[in-house]
Amino acid sequence: MSLFLYRANLPRNMIENSMFEEEPDVVDLAKDSAAFPTFPALDPDEVAYEPRSSRLLVRGLGENDMDEDEEDCESSARLLGMSFMNRSSAHRSNSSPYTRQAPPRSCSRPSARTMVVCVLFLVIVASMTMVLYFLPGCTFTKTGCRKENKTTPIEPPFPWSQFRLPHSIRPLSYDLTLNPDLDNMNFTGSTVIKMVVLHNTKRIVLHSANLNISKATFKLDDGEASDVTVLEYKPRQQIALNFSEELKAGQYCVLTLDYSANLSHTYDGFYNSSYTDKDGNKRVLAATQFEPLSARKAFPCFDEPAFKATFLIKINRKPDYMTLSNMPKAKTTPLNNGLVQDEFEMTSVNMSTYLVAFIVGNFTPVSKNVSEILVSVYSVPEKKEHTDYALDAASKLLDFYNDFFEINFPLKKLDLIAIPDFLAGAMENWGLITFRETSLLVGKQSSPLEKQVVASVIAHELAHQWFGNLVTMSWWNDLWLNEGFATYMQYMSLQTVLPQLDIGNLFLAVRFRALDKDALNSSHAVSTAVNSPEQVEEMFDSVSYEKGASILLMLNASLSGDQQFRKGIIQYLKQFSGLNTDTNDLWNSLTQVSTQHQNVSEMMSSWTSQKGFPLVTVSRKGDQVTLTQEHFLLTSDNATHTSSLWNIPVTYVSDNCSLAPECRQLFTLKTKSGTFKVPESVKWLKLNYRNTGFYIVHYGDDGWAALRDALANDVSVLTHEDRASLIHNIFALSRLGRVSFRHVLNLLNYISNETETSPVTEALLQLNKIYQLLDKRQEYSLVARMKTYILHHFGSLMDKQTWEEQESVSKQELRSALLETACGLDDENCTQQAKALFKQYVDSNATSRIPGDLQQVVFNVAAQSAEDWPTLLNLYGHATYDAEKRKMLRGLASTQDARKIVWILKAGLKGNLIQTQELPLVISTVCKGFAGYLFAWDFIQENWDRLIEKFPVGSFAIQTIINSATSQFSTQAHLDQVQGFFSSLKERGSQMRSVQEALETIRLNKRWMEKNLRTLQKWL
Ligand SMILES: [Zn+2]
Repeated sequence: MSLFLYRANLPRNMIENSMFEEEPDVVDLAKDSAAFPTFPALDPDEVAYEPRSSRLLVRGLGENDMDEDEEDCESSARLLGMSFMNRSSAHRSNSSPYTRQAPPRSCSRPSARTMVVCVLFLVIVASMTMVLYFLPGCTFTKTGCRKENKTTPIEPPFPWSQFRLPHSIRPLSYDLTLNPDLDNMNFTGSTVIKMVVLHNTKRIVLHSANLNISKATFKLDDGEASDVTVLEYKPRQQIALNFSEELKAGQYCVLTLDYSANLSHTYDGFYNSSYTDKDGNKRVLAATQFEPLSARKAFPCFDEPAFKATFLIKINRKPDYMTLSNMPKAKTTPLNNGLVQDEFEMTSVNMSTYLVAFIVGNFTPVSKNVSEILVSVYSVPEKKEHTDYALDAASKLLDFYNDFFEINFPLKKLDLIAIPDFLAGAMENWGLITFRETSLLVGKQSSPLEKQVVASVIAHELAHQWFGNLVTMSWWNDLWLNEGFATYMQYMSLQTVLPQLDIGNLFLAVRFRALDKDALNSSHAVSTAVNSPEQVEEMFDSVSYEKGASILLMLNASLSGDQQFRKGIIQYLKQFSGLNTDTNDLWNSLTQVSTQHQNVSEMMSSWTSQKGFPLVTVSRKGDQVTLTQEHFLLTSDNATHTSSLWNIPVTYVSDNCSLAPECRQLFTLKTKSGTFKVPESVKWLKLNYRNTGFYIVHYGDDGWAALRDALANDVSVLTHEDRASLIHNIFALSRLGRVSFRHVLNLLNYISNETETSPVTEALLQLNKIYQLLDKRQEYSLVARMKTYILHHFGSLMDKQTWEEQESVSKQELRSALLETACGLDDENCTQQAKALFKQYVDSNATSRIPGDLQQVVFNVAAQSAEDWPTLLNLYGHATYDAEKRKMLRGLASTQDARKIVWILKAGLKGNLIQTQELPLVISTVCKGFAGYLFAWDFIQENWDRLIEKFPVGSFAIQTIINSATSQFSTQAHLDQVQGFFSSLKERGSQMRSVQEALETIRLNKRWMEKNLRTLQKWL
């Protein structure tokens, strides 16, 4: 999955629980079933005795048990979305008026005798009532009850008490038939699951959420299918079958479940979505988003990544819709109710449930054959002309990966589809990748920056077809194997396939942000225990994605031998193709191909098994250089220390040779400290060459001074990545309290000579953070001085920027960062230009062009004027091109008019004019401005329950919302408020890692401010 990232604004973040013991997973079926360890027998301690909360879904009903009335009743219940089972409890409550009958009136004026009579009467009534209550509902029906109902009048307890499913049963194949009804926004389905028994067991446990199961049959080996009782435990979204006889290892069985459900109104499961077409008509569609835990909302299944199986999918639809799924369509058959059935080929590979996908709606494709694979890009019909770029990029990238991994994409077709209403950036469903429109569609005139977004999301999702789909992590604790890899491959492949997109600056910025997050005590290890749905959601964060990618880059850069990294991953993909793995499997594969017997496992496990990263401190005496490492831990509590050590491939260059890759020296620091020698004539050292390592360096006063002098003389003595990394590192050290802010400003003195993108954007981002904090603390005189400082140091660069089309991506990135800052600080030159461009745009009826990289700054400036804001809103309402539309929305949300801010927040929640998928973007934009950040914080508190209805607790969207709303607080009063609010949430979110992160960030802000306000007053 690709998260939807806002440039230079990556939010996110803990809790480590020990994982419960797993059952043995591998079984030799050839052995006598009694010989291998059976699945642990049902230990009374292990069973969740929750007879009231486990709901009996399906009672054993024989085939002839229903009369016509009952059948009618069942089908209408299905239509109403009620489960058949509920009906039997409805029967029960029909008979229950007895229990609520008022006592006889004669008792109202009691004599002693009547009292006795009354009491006796009450006792009789009460006992009869109890008898009636505990008798099953069928007691008084024509057909009476089946035996088991009579013998087990109390619902059996749910037979499983853990979050993870037992491993005694393995699903082999699913046969799904779905009947989505887009008029009524519901669906019925039938799922046939073929399974094999791995260990003797008396139960089958699988997942199901919000499905009303109406019928369940079970068939063992060649036996007859018979109706079975399904138990449900809603809090864990599990259902179960209990058997009186043990199922024996090696037996095969088939479970068939019929069910109905509503299409989901959120962004996961089988959800409905709508959009307005160019003629103003509302069009509906239904699509799926299953990762991580939502396949169970569309069909009952073993919804964990290690339960791979094959899927045969059939979808019934009206003739004027079309359907898509993972596999090519095998056939279309007319049904007798006016519908047609599309049947897709059975998946040719075993896959995890979270990768299943299907879509019903109206979409049109453009297609192309790439190495015998039919690649198609689908969009709603009116956006067809925006699909060409994606088709071209996908085709090139597919060729690249086929070649790079030496394994061909295993399916016959690959569809990429832009869904009008989609929360994540994209989702890698095998053979049917779903995207947000912004992540897939670009106009012919779109700026290279917009193309960069599209190409990187495609590159990420295509990489998943191997990393994630072909080889899958066994459990969500190793999500990074999917996401870190796809993120790394996305940058790596684009550097080769589309070098004109200049992806390097973005990757560098992303690594800086990952360091910032991982420096917090609330961070977590790359591989970390995951034992609840919220913890699964929380894994989709910068540690899994960006830190994962960063450590892979570090590994690749430190391996000797050109192709060693590639050989290692080819070995890994081939060895585990179609299987599940954990982190050690990857390191072992890389160790096996190592030419110099480098122990990759030893080195890399120090990076994946502990949170955080090292601070490397350099000290030098003559020719002797000493490096020491410690945990770079930002903490407001000075007493917190960890003894963590990393195996660090430290790289360095010096004034003798500092630019070319050959200049780079390598020193492995495994212990607390280590020394190496350099010629005494060396004036300065720069560690972490081109910032390919995941650590921060402190050079000491002398070391920093030498580097500062070198840069002041000539900026080109270091690569631009090295300059950017010095800037990032010194700000981080100031936050850690190791260097004074004066040193930061001293280093920045060279910046007016800087011309490259990454050092400038990094410096602006860091200064902007401090500016925002000062602004929100209402330190007005310092805000004014900070503004002067920025305009003074970056003014000449700002003035040099043009407002015409600019081809180079890197120059676009530089220009948009500079001009957004300048206009944001009300620089007259900038705002005048922006206003003029907006006027021209409006006067031309939106036909004249604003260069893509300048649209944001132009819309932001327009939104500050009372006159232009409504014009922009109107443009937003009519815009169809999603990338442009989002920039308009950010503009609208950047207004400093309090009433408009409140309106836009509400509109985002309501979801009509502004899609709810955009709410995290709206909130994060509002929070940046002075006028809105407190409104946004109030809004979140007031609407918390509605927010977590739309976005799951722990999800990336919720992480974004919490981070944007709280990361600029720096006072005790706000700390108390934030703490008070989140602790009141209890199970509705108080345990989230992002809450810990928010509290920590406020404490750190507060500490930094208290320490540095005086310095700022003195030096700014
Ligand atoms: Zn992904």
